[in-house]
Amino acid sequence: MFIDIHTHLSQYNAQEIPSIVKRWRESDVELVVSSGTTINDSIKSIDLAKKYPDIAAGIGLHPSDITNNWKEDLLELKKILNENVSMISEIGLDYQDSSPSKKVQIKVFEEQIQIAIDNNLPIVFHTRFSMEDSYNILSNFKGNMHGGAVHYFDGSYEEAKNMLSLGLKISFAKTLIRIDYLKEVAKKISIDDIVIETDSYPQYFKKNRQRWTEPKDVVVVAQELSRIKNLPIKLVAKKTADNFKSFVKI
Ligand SMILES: [Zn+2]
Repeated sequence: MFIDIHTHLSQYNAQEIPSIVKRWRESDVELVVSSGTTINDSIKSIDLAKKYPDIAAGIGLHPSDITNNWKEDLLELKKILNENVSMISEIGLDYQDSSPSKKVQIKVFEEQIQIAIDNNLPIVFHTRFSMEDSYNILSNFKGNMHGGAVHYFDGSYEEAKNMLSLGLKISFAKTLIRIDYLKEVAKKISIDDIVIETDSYPQYFKKNRQRWTEPKDVVVVAQELSRIKNLPIKLVAKKTADNFKSFVKI
C-alpha cells in the first residue's frame, strides 16, 4: 500500500473530496497527508484528518504565504495544534523574486521547526532556490528534530546526502519521471531514505479535469522508483510507507 506524504487536499472543492478519496482507495493508496499553507488551510487539513481515517494532517505557514500578520499566525498555529496533527508542514524557504523577505522567511521557518521539536512532531518542508540556507538552518537543530522529509526534492546527490545527515528523508514527486539528475539521486541513495508524494492541488489551469494530479498518482512515482532501483513495486510501496511511518506517528 502506498502513502502520499504531501498534498494540498484541503484546497480542493469540499464536494470533490469523497470521489478523490474513492479513487486513491481503488489505487491501493493507504494514507494521504493534507498539508496546510496558512492558518485557515491548516484548520481545513485538521478537519479532513478527523473525518477520514486515511488522511493525516500537517499544519504550517508556507513561506510564500507569509503575511505581515506572521507573529499572530505563529501564535495561532500553536493554538490549533491538537492530537489530529501529524506533522508541521508545509514550512520552508522559497527564494523566488516575488517571495516574502528572506529575513522573515528564515525567522518563520526557525520558529516552526521549534514548534515541531517542542511538540514531538516531524517536519515536511519546501526548499526552492534555497537549499544551502535550508541546510544551514536545519543544521542548527540537528539532534533535536523528530525526523521529517524534504518535500518535492529537486537537488543534487550532495544536497540529498546533507539532508540525510540531519536524519531527514528525501521525498520524490512526479518530476522523478522526467528529470535525469533526480533519477541519478534516486539511484545513489538507499530505498530506506526515500518517501513519495504527489504535491497535488486543484490544477484549474488544466482544462481537462481528468488530467489533474491526484493522490492516486503517487503510484506512478512508485513505479518510476521501482524501475530506477530495479526493485519490485510491492517492495517500493512497503519501504516508502515504512520510511514514512518511521517518523510519523499514525
Ligand atoms: Zn506543497
